[in-house]
Amino acid sequence: MDARVVEELRAILGHSGVLAERARRVTYESDGLAFARHVPELVILPRDTRETAAAMRILHTHGIPIVPRGAGTGLSGGATPVAGGVVIGTARMRDVLEIDAENRCARVQAGVVNVDLTHAAAEHGLFYAPDPSSQKACTIGGNVGENSGGPHCFRYGSTTRHVLGLVIVLPDGEVLDLSRPAVDAQGYDLVGLFVGSEGLFGIATEITVALLPVPPVTVTMLALFRDLDAACDAVSDLIAARLEPSAIEILDELTIEAVESSVLAAGYPKGVKAVMLVEAEGSEAEVAATVDAIEPLLVARGAFDVRRARDEAERARLWAGRKGAYGAMGRVAPDLYVCDAVVPRTKLRELVRQTIAICHARGLRIANVFHAGDGNLHPNIPYDRRNAEELRRVLEAGDEILKACIAAGGSLTGEHGVGLEKIGAMEWMFTGPDLDAQCRVRDAWDPLRRMNPGKLLPVHACRETRTRDPRGGTR
Ligand SMILES: Cc1cc2nc3c(=O)[nH]c(=O)nc-3n(C[C@H](O)[C@H](O)[C@H](O)COP(=O)(O)OP(=O)(O)OC[C@H]3O[C@@H](n4cnc5c(N)ncnc54)[C@H](O)[C@@H]3O)c2cc1C
Repeated sequence: MDARVVEELRAILGHSGVLAERARRVTYESDGLAFARHVPELVILPRDTRETAAAMRILHTHGIPIVPRGAGTGLSGGATPVAGGVVIGTARMRDVLEIDAENRCARVQAGVVNVDLTHAAAEHGLFYAPDPSSQKACTIGGNVGENSGGPHCFRYGSTTRHVLGLVIVLPDGEVLDLSRPAVDAQGYDLVGLFVGSEGLFGIATEITVALLPVPPVTVTMLALFRDLDAACDAVSDLIAARLEPSAIEILDELTIEAVESSVLAAGYPKGVKAVMLVEAEGSEAEVAATVDAIEPLLVARGAFDVRRARDEAERARLWAGRKGAYGAMGRVAPDLYVCDAVVPRTKLRELVRQTIAICHARGLRIANVFHAGDGNLHPNIPYDRRNAEELRRVLEAGDEILKACIAAGGSLTGEHGVGLEKIGAMEWMFTGPDLDAQCRVRDAWDPLRRMNPGKLLPVHACRETRTRDPRGGTR
């Protein structure tokens, strides 16, 4: 990176806000998609909107690509600087700026960790609903970037349903204030457009989100199954019965084994083929009615035991096992390829079977742990990235799984985004004119395509709007 640029940025961000030494930049070479690594040319850590805007004006003047980054827990390579340039991290934007209990909303800086917001809101009897399994680490800004989901998004909807307003710094450093004074704003829904834009439109620096009242009663159930097919079919039964639990999650045998052998042991019995976590929330009467209706349905589908968490500690343990499942898989292999796709819920059984067959045909193991209520599959393939031949089979299996989900009427990402990982798969899902339209939207925000180049949109497929990358390639 040009020394003049480093100096100009240091004048705004201070020495500690500009990481130029390679040893410090290496930390930012990848996100959770561990096999894709690119060390950024520079990392900067602004503290607020003003600093972000000033830094982005400098980067604009020098035509330097920008990659926004929250906690780097993304699983699709979204925060990995594949085309070089500067990573702008939000790690120093950690303030909960305001909790407005009366209006049930909060205004936070983009780098606030998801669970910290819920802890801050709890003092007011409120909570922030989207709860990615990574919530102890991931940031609200990253959640906005990916339109993240989580177990309870089955009932409450994903991030986009909860974002009320944004302050965005555009690629040229202009600040766009989309904080909304009222619930229903005039004009285009630019906030809705920005959520899920994977860092291609600008950087969100402040985010206003809706908070919900903590439900008076919560009951968590653990259903044990002798086969995974039956657990999948039970999901369709619950939904067809018009029941409204707040979460329906499934973990398969290999995942249970990994969790129970780890420090996160949750009390899932080893040896069962699948467990289902079902939660009901609401008033006492509402929860009692929901739980009483759910239990017999699960039993009729083959659950041989349905337990209820006896107290808050047991409930927390059951969820800690689910949310820590990816980490626990570290016992199985050094790396884990976490696939993410959505299928119609009625096709869960069929598609889960296909994911298993696809992996086994390539000599790979597979662990399925997923947001079953949303039809959001996460076939997880343990591997070792040092074995290039194994990695090739893993990626081939991932592609086959995606194609199978698309063929079944699903889509290529449920919540982890397209990022770098699935950029090639966009053409399996969208036609040329579809992609052209998406490129035109991107160009309205970022005409020079300096924001997160090499992600989400396969620009070679955007025929009408192709522009030349000032550095030589196409973005
Ligand atoms: C163990 C584990 C469990 C997970 N479980 C879930 C889950 O249940 N549900 C789910 O949805 N995801 C899950 N994920 C994926 C990941 O945690 C989410 O995508 C999360 O939202 C990423 O947040 P982050 O702060 O780490 O963002 P990063 O990974 O740093 O960035 C993600 C994307 O957002 C962009 N971005 C980051 N900050 C901003 C900003 N301020 N403005 C604009 N763009 C920005 C980045 O450029 C990138 O494209 C899981 C990941 C792990 C490792």
